[in-house]
Amino acid sequence: MTIRQLVILPDPVLRRISDPVGPITGEIRTLVADMFETMYDAPGVGLAAIQVGVPKRVVTIDTSKEEGVRKPQVFIDPEIVWSSEEKRVYDEGCLSIPDYYGEVERPDRVRVKFRDLDGREQEIEADGLLATCIQHEIDHLNGVLFIDHLSKLKRDRVLKKFAKAAKRDAA
Ligand code: ZN
Repeated sequence: MTIRQLVILPDPVLRRISDPVGPITGEIRTLVADMFETMYDAPGVGLAAIQVGVPKRVVTIDTSKEEGVRKPQVFIDPEIVWSSEEKRVYDEGCLSIPDYYGEVERPDRVRVKFRDLDGREQEIEADGLLATCIQHEIDHLNGVLFIDHLSKLKRDRVLKKFAKAAKRDAA
């Protein structure tokens, strides 16, 4: 397993729409293993393949809060098939937007259809942090970032900050 390099704002790769996975090949299995390695190392609770530069509809999540307990979950080609009317606000962050947090309102519960690593169709209902996290990661597959859910003022401010930092790093 390899820790892959994270794609950071304002890299335009983050705006790409990811492709369906198709057959689950050895390459996809390696990608998933590397994504977990990268996510745990960061550390983060969720990662979309596009955040390591691979435009495939693959998401890894581990929202386990217990110290030392890992509950890795893989979602291949995930799709939200139902969302609750009730909303929930969570202070979100993103490995592609380091050290920045913002409150985002999303449906409190969602039902998600996806395939597991054996290619089997699965459906789960998620709530709490898992629901927030799945929605955040599926947004990534569609080129959407959590800052897109903030006010224009806040979004422009963070975009400006990261554009400046990228320029400084390139210099
Ligand atoms: Zn993110």
